[in-house]
Amino acid sequence: MKGNQCLTKKQLEEFREILEQKKRELIEDIKRGILEEANAEREVGDLVDMSTEEILRTFEMRIRDREAKYLKKIEKALQKIEEGTYGICEECGKCISYERLKLRPVAELCINCKLKQEKLERKFGEE
Ligand SMILES: [Zn+2]
Repeated sequence: MKGNQCLTKKQLEEFREILEQKKRELIEDIKRGILEEANAEREVGDLVDMSTEEILRTFEMRIRDREAKYLKKIEKALQKIEEGTYGICEECGKCISYERLKLRPVAELCINCKLKQEKLERKFGEE
């Protein structure tokens, strides 16, 4: 894990724990959803021994889009923590505030860029 100019090592460690926890919860949700849907016993038996990657690959079509997207965001954020780029805005390169990350640990943009993006989306949405 590399440190960076936006967050202290302690804060990065904190976010890593939060993200790992969210990831675990989300995977549990996904598994439960699949298990509820799974009719074949064989399918259920296999699922227990499967890794996250295998589950996602096998059941990609059945995992809700929203969950899959969120999981990918979490994975990306965890990767950024390792690379030392977590908490840095992807748009302008400035620091995303600690408070914002606490509310939304998968945030990729600082609040200014996020608002700009939303304004843009609204604009194009109206046209
Ligand atoms: Zn920004």
